[in-house]
Amino acid sequence: MRSIRRSLVLWFLLLAVVSLAAVGGVIDSVVRTAVAGREAAAKDLILKQSEQRRLDELDRVDQSLLDEARAIAQSVQVLYANNLRPLTDPLTFFPLSTLGFGVGSNPLAAATAIQLAVPGSPPGGVVSGAFFGLRTVDDGLLSKQFSDDDHFRDFYQVHTFANNKLLSKSLAGKPLPDFNRATLGKTLPNWLPADEITLADGTPARRVVYATPLYVRFFGQTRGGRGGGGPGGGGGGGGGRGGDRNAGPPPPPRQQPMPDDRVAMVPRAYIQTARPLAVVNEKFAEFAAERNVQLASLRVESAAAVSRTRWLLLAVGAGGTGLLLAGSALIISRGLRPVDRLSEAVSLVSERDFRLPVAAEDLSVELLPVHARLTASLDALRRAFEREKRAVADISHELRTPVASLAATIDVSLRKPRTPEQYKVTLEECRDINRQLAGLVERVMTLASLDAGSDAGRCGRVDVSELAIGCVGLIRPLAEAHGLTVVADVAKGLALTTDGSKLREVLMNLLHNAVEYTPAGGRIELTATSDGTGGATFVVRDTGIGMTPDVTAKIFERFYRADASRTATGVHAGLGLAIVKEYLERLGGRVAVESRPGAGSTFTVSVTPMTA
Ligand code: ADP
Repeated sequence: MRSIRRSLVLWFLLLAVVSLAAVGGVIDSVVRTAVAGREAAAKDLILKQSEQRRLDELDRVDQSLLDEARAIAQSVQVLYANNLRPLTDPLTFFPLSTLGFGVGSNPLAAATAIQLAVPGSPPGGVVSGAFFGLRTVDDGLLSKQFSDDDHFRDFYQVHTFANNKLLSKSLAGKPLPDFNRATLGKTLPNWLPADEITLADGTPARRVVYATPLYVRFFGQTRGGRGGGGPGGGGGGGGGRGGDRNAGPPPPPRQQPMPDDRVAMVPRAYIQTARPLAVVNEKFAEFAAERNVQLASLRVESAAAVSRTRWLLLAVGAGGTGLLLAGSALIISRGLRPVDRLSEAVSLVSERDFRLPVAAEDLSVELLPVHARLTASLDALRRAFEREKRAVADISHELRTPVASLAATIDVSLRKPRTPEQYKVTLEECRDINRQLAGLVERVMTLASLDAGSDAGRCGRVDVSELAIGCVGLIRPLAEAHGLTVVADVAKGLALTTDGSKLREVLMNLLHNAVEYTPAGGRIELTATSDGTGGATFVVRDTGIGMTPDVTAKIFERFYRADASRTATGVHAGLGLAIVKEYLERLGGRVAVESRPGAGSTFTVSVTPMTA
């Protein structure tokens, strides 16, 4: 069996779950989109930062290599400044190839090259000692200068214009790749952008090439002063630190104080510094690992944020559902309280007390019709029940009298021997009493049969004029015995398709009552007329005791008798008019009564033709 409370709670719950699921789905989707967007932005930032770190590290490596090259350059400069001397004979020729510029073997060309390479000298100016030669510095001296090789990881290599060469110990005797000195001499005053090379043993490395001018002590006074070709002019060319990442010239190397009698010359030394890529890549791998850790933690954070939101949504959903469940149970419980009250009141109704023990004002407006209907039904039930009880009492009473009378008659008769005449009288009395009993039983049976629907009607064409006159004829002896006058005013030739026996029973009941409740000297009248539509109207009028409106409202109820104490002269248990009403319902007719106490009663019966 379905429970309203449970159904309502379930529907509430279903509604809540569907609503919360829909809202939760939307929120979840919005949060996921937002978190994904934030994750993408953060990932982009991490990748950019990581790339920037890589580039910065590369810059740092390049700068560090350049710094190393400059430091080595300074050492080489000092070494050459102190050890390199021009030959005293200006006419001494030397192969220009020793200068390392590949300008040919023409001494004049060599002089011109030197002159042009001196920044700050007046246009067309000539350096003193235009033809000269240089003593080269011994390789031994160079390697002595760098006897202690601290650069165990980096490589370095020095070439001078005089083909002096120094290799770092870390190179293990295998030189770095050579470079085009001729090109460098013309296009690169100081340094080359960093590049990546492969050593002879296959080791990949990052390399910086740095060219530094060497200072030569001349005989005589210098002219033109110190120019940009000196150590301080190292930043005059070269541009950026390498490739397309041109971030401007590197800071100038620290200047060594030079004696006044020196002048910058074109002879140069070329320093290469290199770092194994494995070392650089080690750092890069470290960055990549850190970046991967950041990305992983970002992913975890994003997943955690989504998960947190989902848990929150779940918690809110569960809480909301719980609250709604409790709230709906409370609301429904409060809402159904009037129903509970009514239900409890109905459960208290018993056959001994047909009262509904709840006031209408204690119920809700919606239940008022139910309350009214129940109250009316219970009232009707109570009255019916009381009637039934009274009827049982009445029937018992009605039966007791004839039965007691029967017993007494028989007892008296048997008390002593009687004559045949006396026995005959006794038997006739017994027969009359039995008739009363049979009449009562018959009426009760008739109603029972009508209630059960087992009463089979016999429908046919009936001459109702004749039927009415016959009824009057039947009642007249009884009426006259009561001192009453009976009159019939029946239209002739009234015919009707109906159940004749039922109609006769209706009229006889009304005439019997008229006789019963009209004092002697009164008058009873039966009229029968056509109603003009094929039906007939019968009126039974008497000048009897009449009835109050309260009584007329109840006389068609079963076992109702206005005066229950009235001694029945026949079968008068309050069933006659009930049978009249039931019969007329089946005949398609109706009965109405007009009465006033002491002014007689008028019963009007209308009967319409039945379909055969
Ligand atoms: P009963 O068999 O006891 O007469 P009825 O059903 O025929 O029962 O009538 C019910 C009651 O109606 C009667 O007890 C009586 O009080 C009232 N009644 C019926 N007919 C008349 C009448 N013609 N005049 C006055 N009262 C009547």
